Amino acid sequence: MSESTSRGAAAKAHAEADVAGAAFHTRIDTALGDGKLRQALSMTTGRLATGRATAFAALPYAEALRVAAQRIRAHTIAHLDRYLVEFTTNAERAGCRIHWAETAADAARMVVEIARASGVSLAVKSKSMLSEEIELNSALESAGIRVVETDLGEFVVQLAGDRPSHIIAPIVHRRREDVAALFREKLGATDEEVATIPAMTAFARKTLRDQFVGAGMGVSGVNLAVADTGSLCLVTNEGNGRLTTTLPRVHVALLGLERLVPTSADLSVVLQLLARSATGQAMPVYTNVLTGPRRRGSAADAGGGEPDGPDQLHIVIVDNGRTRLLGSELAEILYCVRCGACLNVCPVYRQIGGHAYGGVYPGPVGSVVMPGLEGLGAWSELPQASSLCGACRDVCPVRIDLPRLLLKLRAQAVRQSLGPAWLRLGMRIFAAVATRPAVYRHVGNLVGRIGAAVAPDGWLTRLPGPLAAWTQSRDFPAPAAKSFTQSWRPKRGAERTRR
Ligand code: SF4
Repeated sequence: MSESTSRGAAAKAHAEADVAGAAFHTRIDTALGDGKLRQALSMTTGRLATGRATAFAALPYAEALRVAAQRIRAHTIAHLDRYLVEFTTNAERAGCRIHWAETAADAARMVVEIARASGVSLAVKSKSMLSEEIELNSALESAGIRVVETDLGEFVVQLAGDRPSHIIAPIVHRRREDVAALFREKLGATDEEVATIPAMTAFARKTLRDQFVGAGMGVSGVNLAVADTGSLCLVTNEGNGRLTTTLPRVHVALLGLERLVPTSADLSVVLQLLARSATGQAMPVYTNVLTGPRRRGSAADAGGGEPDGPDQLHIVIVDNGRTRLLGSELAEILYCVRCGACLNVCPVYRQIGGHAYGGVYPGPVGSVVMPGLEGLGAWSELPQASSLCGACRDVCPVRIDLPRLLLKLRAQAVRQSLGPAWLRLGMRIFAAVATRPAVYRHVGNLVGRIGAAVAPDGWLTRLPGPLAAWTQSRDFPAPAAKSFTQSWRPKRGAERTRR
């Protein structure tokens, strides 16, 4: 790379970081000023976090299971090449068609092509964060294919033209009354149909049933794929996953290439932790393990075969930046099974919700995944959105050390000179002063004198410029009138005299 090209790339990264930083702070301010959002967040994340804590307290050997799950995921990621070959070989043997997508755009294009080849005009979708990552809905709609979200939360998101704000609870930012108003406005629901949560659920179910029957294609994500059987495991609480993967003639499963386990026994270890971590349930209501499309009867099996299921099962295996993470200092994030537990306990997420993060994946996991998949340029502020309290690491079912990864990203941002211009300049000035003892002493004395003059009680109530954000909600301790060296020197002199 030439020097000018490299400088151009660095300047672009700085500009991106500055714009992203400003936008991030604006989104944070908006979220913090939204009382309804904070009420909804506090209620739902509190309920999910308590549910998880109760479920784990009742689980014998919970810690041993977490260690085992971590080992399984670490081993799989370390040997991902081998397990991907094993999985695809077995899945193809079972009748699946495998598609490899290097980028998000490739993945979306492949799904569109599959739909076109089968003459699909309506697709139903069960919940899949990967489909959000590859922006599948807009790709299908641009190709004239209607898509209907069938997970209740995602259905509400689609109806409202909104975005999910949580990995497993997409409408964590909406209250029950908001959903009722939306159903009235968009679907003409009556007061009776939105009177209670069960009534709204029944109303949504009735609305969605016809879509399942009419759809030519079902699109799902995959929670985990099993290498030695070529099976796909999907967990849901609403049964929509089962309808999406069995009623339409074509099933397309989107699989992030890291989401494998070697065997069914390994799957059972992770499944014991997944729902407990996500919602506090011992098991999800529906755990589906699919191996290949519908099997037709044949002369050999005396007219056996399966009465239902799709004629075609396509598995789109998506890279989109994941292989870049393999072998990097962030590779541990590939263990993630997207349970969402780290969001529910994060003191930052619990205040600002998912939209403020700006990416598909929010919370502590998103603060690593987004820069990990797309580079730090546009996401350099996210690793700062953490108190590093460690609550995320403590609840992670696969024991990902999220604070350590966030610190790695902060260090990368410093090495790449990312972050706001004022901070970079401030740190350069500090480094220049701190590495010259005489200058440091003089500046320290001066700052101490100014501090004593402007804050006689020892507290600053207003700071200038970008530092004002601190004093908007709390006071800042004024610099000490005497530096440590000034206070210590006479004591050291007295000590020497005594000796
Ligand atoms: S990082 Fe851990 S806690 Fe967070 S979503 Fe992933 S698996 Fe769950």
